[in-house]
Amino acid sequence: MLQISDNLKHVREKIAKAASKVGRNPQDIQLVAVSKTVDIKRIKQAIEVGATILGENYIQEARRKIEELGQDVRWDFIGHLQSNKVKYAVDLFEMIHSVDRLSLAQEINRAAEKKKKEVRILIQVNISGEEAKSGIDPGGVISLVREIASLPNLSMEGLMTMPPYFDDPEDARPYFTSLRELRNTILMENIEGISLKELSMGMSGDVEVAIEEGSTLVRVCSAIFGERNLTTS
Ligand SMILES: *Cc1c(COP(=O)(O)O)cnc(C)c1O
Repeated sequence: MLQISDNLKHVREKIAKAASKVGRNPQDIQLVAVSKTVDIKRIKQAIEVGATILGENYIQEARRKIEELGQDVRWDFIGHLQSNKVKYAVDLFEMIHSVDRLSLAQEINRAAEKKKKEVRILIQVNISGEEAKSGIDPGGVISLVREIASLPNLSMEGLMTMPPYFDDPEDARPYFTSLRELRNTILMENIEGISLKELSMGMSGDVEVAIEEGSTLVRVCSAIFGERNLTTS
């Protein structure tokens, strides 16, 4: 309990420091506590000490946890979403960070329409071009945004990315810069009915750099909950 509380405090301080370094308001940066593979007891502790947004990667695991912990806190989906799991995702999550193809967006829109809901979404962009990474190529983002803008039950709110892993977080900076610049390029298209306010970028190792480059949603797991067991993550 104390550990999670200290960790959360430490992460919040890091966020505030990075924000003030570049003259941003720390309130413009939201912390998503990523709870993949973390047990219910520890997630509960995090909520008790002030975590308000939880991030999950796997639908099955998230269903179990959310049924038990409830939806007073906000749950965001940050993992790869398969089409056959969309109906659950729409029930469980307020925001989906990982929309990377039109068929998936259409699927989410249909499910949201059935439930008379609006789902907040981000487009996941594969800035690095690594083959193993999910996300749409930067070159395809503008046309995907246009298509999504016409889907009435989706609220298009921004972009998400995951750079490759580096020991030195400075090496991740160019990927964050690219995502921000891509966002600015799309804004110049003046596409109606969308917002691109959110940039979901930055994790335990590179929160500061991501915030300096404009992140509005940082997704942090190990710096809050401790190192993951590598065999189960
Ligand atoms: C696990 C995960 C994170 C957080 O990872 P840490 O480096 O442990 O903070 C962020 N985003 C996604 C998509 C993840 O899967």
